Amino acid sequence: MKKAFSKKNLWEATPPVFKKLAGLTLSVVPLEYLIGRKFRETTKLILAADKWTKDEVDAYQLEKLKQQVCNAYNKCPAYKKLYDSAGIDISSFYKLSDFKKLPLIDKAFINDNIDGLLLVDKNSADVDYVTTGGTSGVPLHFYINAGRSQIEYAYLVEGWRKTGFKLGDIKAVLRGRVTDTKAGVHQSYDPIFNEHYYSNFHMSNGDMRSYIAHIKTLKNCFLHVYPSSIYQLARFAKTENISFDNVQAILAESENVYSEQRAFVESVFNCRYYSSYGHSEKLVAAGECEYSSNYHVWPAYGYLELLDEDGDEITQKGQVGEIVGTGFINTVMPFIRYKTGDFADYVGQFCDKCKRNHLIIKDIRGHRVQEHLVAKDHSLISWTAVNMHDDTFDNVLQYQFYQDTPGVAVIKIKTGNGFNDENKQRIISNINGKLQGRVEVSVIQVDDIQLTERGKSVFVDQRINISS
Ligand SMILES: [Zn+2]
Repeated sequence: MKKAFSKKNLWEATPPVFKKLAGLTLSVVPLEYLIGRKFRETTKLILAADKWTKDEVDAYQLEKLKQQVCNAYNKCPAYKKLYDSAGIDISSFYKLSDFKKLPLIDKAFINDNIDGLLLVDKNSADVDYVTTGGTSGVPLHFYINAGRSQIEYAYLVEGWRKTGFKLGDIKAVLRGRVTDTKAGVHQSYDPIFNEHYYSNFHMSNGDMRSYIAHIKTLKNCFLHVYPSSIYQLARFAKTENISFDNVQAILAESENVYSEQRAFVESVFNCRYYSSYGHSEKLVAAGECEYSSNYHVWPAYGYLELLDEDGDEITQKGQVGEIVGTGFINTVMPFIRYKTGDFADYVGQFCDKCKRNHLIIKDIRGHRVQEHLVAKDHSLISWTAVNMHDDTFDNVLQYQFYQDTPGVAVIKIKTGNGFNDENKQRIISNINGKLQGRVEVSVIQVDDIQLTERGKSVFVDQRINISS
């Protein structure tokens, strides 16, 4: 079971009948034991870190940073070259201020040096290869520990607990999952995690009506969602005059959260909206506390710096900076002072409501902006649901959807060396597999993908007016 959880896709690919059998057999074992030892150990660490003083937070982070930096310098040729050419003497690294002298890295540094950044053999069984679209449209490729899902899940659960959630509580999930389709209903059930999945690739009025009818039958459930998907569902529920009294909280991740949308969703579902921040690179993560919707950065997960355009640390409340992360979880390929491309407002080093000595930030943005494709029936499909974390975009430097007709889209790709027809066919079949005919996708190779006037690249060059 541990394997099935750490290699999540295996579990997702398991036929439902086996899942049901496994669910019955395993239901006598407490879920925290099924998930694994790393989950339980991480939970203990999180609870301890909740009570740390500022000095204890600093000491823990300094020790972890030293480990990562020393390993990186001694074992990764790319880091050795980077620090040597910047004139950095790693042996004189004693304090956090020494760490802040290290050069920043970005996506290009990782992509250009992927084989020069490994601490272990990339072919080991406990190493995963990940590709992600990130925010700029240029895919990022990297290696990471296969066991990270257990650690990640411990953080999610500890965050959700602040809304009253307990491991094993019923969840209704509206995220990027391809579900079964029975009698026209796009829905699946995972008996182990007690999760009901609905397809946010299918959001016609009829689909949403059936999701809502099912959600209303669930006792004391939690909705685990993409912000854009739940906003769409809430808008629909409102137009149909549907109210809820059984939803305990909305648990949202993976997209920007807009305060108007949050307030609207809270009013429709009559419960709290709780948001977490994280990313596939697993460098830093944050979640709201019991009393505040500001993000509390988890101190034992990674080291988060908020830096201005000159690379200086932001210390004034209300100032905006880029999130630069150094992860503690990835011990396969260290990311040290990595520019995430995400931005946030600095709040402080302490929450006076919950009394945690954690870095507090708010209004995180830029991470997977909400962008949509328009399906044949004019319903919207969130870009985040299409985002591929596998080998779909291998040998592609940059990609972008272009759409001017509902139900039809073109993926423009700027290709790198080694791109071949097999790569092209894989893009078409993987994307069309996810979209299940709601949007027909074709691929064209281009020399360049234009940036917006702010120098950003967008995932969906959307020419259909979807603002109404
Ligand atoms: Zn707090």
